[in-house]
Amino acid sequence: MSIKPAPERKPGEGQGPFKKLFIKGATMIDGTGAPPRGPVNIIIEGNQIKDVKGGIESPPEDAQVIDANGMYVMPGFVDTHAHIGGEAQGTPAEYVYKLWMAHGVTTIREPGSGNGVDWTLSEKERSASNKIVAPRISAYIRPGMWERGAVRTQEEARDFVRWADTKGVNGFKLSSSDPHVLKALIDEANQRELGSAAHLEQTIVTRTNALDAARMGLGSLEHWYGLPEALYDDRLVQHYPADYNYTNEYDRFSRAGRLWKQAAALGSDKWNTVMNELLNLNFTLSPTLTIYEATRDVMRAREAEWHGTYTLPSLRDFFQPDPESHGSFFFDWTTADEVAWKENYKLWMAFLNEYKNRGGRVTTGSDSGFIYKLYGFGYIRELELLQESGFHPLEVIRSATMNGAELLSEENNIPMDFGVIRPNMLADLVLVGENPLHNFKTLYGTGTIKLNPETNKVERVGGVEYTIKDGIVYDAKELLSDVEQIVNDAKE
Ligand SMILES: [Zn+2]
Repeated sequence: MSIKPAPERKPGEGQGPFKKLFIKGATMIDGTGAPPRGPVNIIIEGNQIKDVKGGIESPPEDAQVIDANGMYVMPGFVDTHAHIGGEAQGTPAEYVYKLWMAHGVTTIREPGSGNGVDWTLSEKERSASNKIVAPRISAYIRPGMWERGAVRTQEEARDFVRWADTKGVNGFKLSSSDPHVLKALIDEANQRELGSAAHLEQTIVTRTNALDAARMGLGSLEHWYGLPEALYDDRLVQHYPADYNYTNEYDRFSRAGRLWKQAAALGSDKWNTVMNELLNLNFTLSPTLTIYEATRDVMRAREAEWHGTYTLPSLRDFFQPDPESHGSFFFDWTTADEVAWKENYKLWMAFLNEYKNRGGRVTTGSDSGFIYKLYGFGYIRELELLQESGFHPLEVIRSATMNGAELLSEENNIPMDFGVIRPNMLADLVLVGENPLHNFKTLYGTGTIKLNPETNKVERVGGVEYTIKDGIVYDAKELLSDVEQIVNDAKE
């Protein structure tokens, strides 16, 4: 049922937390959208940022020092749609966590807690106390993950939410409940200061589209389903061909690629009215652009350069085209399908960019573990795709840090204590050797190719240097070599 929980953190896995840690001379991107500034010194005590000071300063004698001269420092990244993986993928938790941490992800939201409620809450607790090497975990569970089974009435919905509240979950991942049940789930969650996120399946969007769900008080829309439907102005139901079958993953994904063009035209009255109402409802979009990328370029996703070293054989198998596996729909994927999806992306991205421009919150979720997307790597790709949507790189980093932290804090009505670099915030940070604003590709564990002007030779540069979580400093490249070892062992 569940994958293996992570092993206990071994001595030498991460240094600290320290009484005093002094990050010296970094260029800081603070997560708010403010421009980079440096050199700055960041003083950390235990698991907390105590001070951020500009200029050149010598560290106190009793401080541990990271010489960050020439490096960039950002808040730890938040992945708002991060499945820990499952038996089908054959991915031990250690493998998934280390891939995330190696890419600077220090907080994840588990949308569904597929390994079970108790399993996920136990991992959340073990991560919070740093007994394991893992990002902070915000645990969202699906209706029905209790002894009483499916949640079909409003009363059951409220009972379920109350039960989940006593368990200590952070929120709910909703999908295809009937509208009155969905409404009760969301309402009870909001009353109890628990979060709600929904993947509105095509089987229910005719009754609950994104706007309907936002009006019910839903916190965030996962992916994008339900958004074009909220924007229809000349139909009610997606234009399905007569031989369509939702259970057929090819039908599902290929027709979805023709969906955005069925919505109201970009910039039309309808488009604006819906967007403005979503903004007024303080609705968050967690688009997970990266997980659909194979639809517009299947070869790119399949042949990504990290698969050879970092993708477990069981995960590779899981990714193979197969009518039986979710998301493995490309058993007859055509040029026409890719062309349609490229158009689909343009309309979707234009909506996201304008939503951001009008003050809407867009977060970064990756949904890795499906469709050739590898944990960590898939997350960095999400940053690139937001840039492609029109986001300035500083806006992308803001989405990846502050916005994710705001969403998770707001959903549970707790003060935000991570996601920006400020005194009193938790010491969750990412240190990189290259300027991420110049090129997000430098954040991939495999780095990127760059000409060295001194030698006139091309080199591979990049990869995160250090991921700091709760004041504990992890060498990101060591985390990656642990992952490589796990993969090599599995290959033998
Ligand atoms: Zn998902």
